[in-house]
Amino acid sequence: MLKFSFFTALLHYMTAQSCSIAPFAQAVLHWYDQFGRKHLPWQQNKTLYGVWLSEVMLQQTQVATVIPYFERFIKTFPNITALANAPLDEVLHLWTGLGYYARARNLHKAAQQIRDEYQGQFPTQFEQVLALSGIGRSTAGAILSSVLNQPYAILDGNVKRVLSRYFLVDGWTGDKKVENKLWALSEQVTPQDQVADFNQAMMDIGAMVCTRSKPKCDLCPISQKCGANLTNCWMDYPHKKPKKTLPARTSYFLILSCQGKIALEQRKHSGLWGGLYCFPQFPSKTELLQYLAAQGIRQYQEWTAFRHTFSHFHLDIYPIYAELHGKKCDEDRTDWKKIAEKPAKYQFTVSTTDKYWYDPDNPDQIGLATPVKNLLIEFHKRK
Ligand code: SF4
Repeated sequence: MLKFSFFTALLHYMTAQSCSIAPFAQAVLHWYDQFGRKHLPWQQNKTLYGVWLSEVMLQQTQVATVIPYFERFIKTFPNITALANAPLDEVLHLWTGLGYYARARNLHKAAQQIRDEYQGQFPTQFEQVLALSGIGRSTAGAILSSVLNQPYAILDGNVKRVLSRYFLVDGWTGDKKVENKLWALSEQVTPQDQVADFNQAMMDIGAMVCTRSKPKCDLCPISQKCGANLTNCWMDYPHKKPKKTLPARTSYFLILSCQGKIALEQRKHSGLWGGLYCFPQFPSKTELLQYLAAQGIRQYQEWTAFRHTFSHFHLDIYPIYAELHGKKCDEDRTDWKKIAEKPAKYQFTVSTTDKYWYDPDNPDQIGLATPVKNLLIEFHKRK
């Protein structure tokens, strides 16, 4: 280990001298030799597929959360073609709990693009990578720099924070003008050589040193010229997103059981919880009860209501449990069709594309929205 660090540091030092790497990059690379993360699962026997998968999973998600998901994914889909050939339900099932499900749908779509256009081999040209579903400029740069050392800058949330503080960049980083400025700065500080280590180091500094609250400036390799450190104003950078109160919506979830099975509907493959399975939803309690009455069901239980927050609204969920007695749980039964064919106004934000009886004792590999998963656990506990 010591040997590795010493020779790597020596190599970085010699290259830095010969390539005139700027002091900023030198300091960052030197720090990486000593403290950077080098043992994450996707950093071992690096492949474009593994790094791509990790980059997508890491968007808006912490490393510790991602690791078990990454390991399960790679085990189930050891290569891009295996991922492309898998049913979307299976992909969403493995993604359940990780959130932001559009990432999983895009990953699956991109895998199919790679299978069809590149014989299952991840492309190596920046423009080709950028054209894949769900891959933006920073992710493309991160993949190609990490695996092939191609000289592309990156700008994920961690790097935005470090650069905003170091250069005292005003404005919210989600604003296009501010983002463009940060891209220019990222390109300015990114060296042509050792880009893989440099980019990883910038992400690590953001995650481990220049943290959102209480950054460890005394341990930071670029503290000497960091604007936020010199003026003691790290708390002002990056500027916060202009405040907007999230609207709240309401939904009544019908947990309808029959012989131990639960009625679920699959959502459309795009939009909120796209492709995931959910309980039938109603916009009001009255409409849900009217539906139950029409099925001859008079008894029901109201479970504890709770709030689920999305990036753009809160969803207040009111679960109501009821049982279908003395009837078979057959999807062809008219009772079920009444749910599937209910008028559009009952569908709230949901559009059913499929109907399904879920067996919690013998669960199929399907994607479940987190509140649905939690309510199924609750159902299991109450049995
Ligand atoms: S010196 Fe402090 S504020 Fe500046 S980049 Fe380093 S950790 Fe962040």
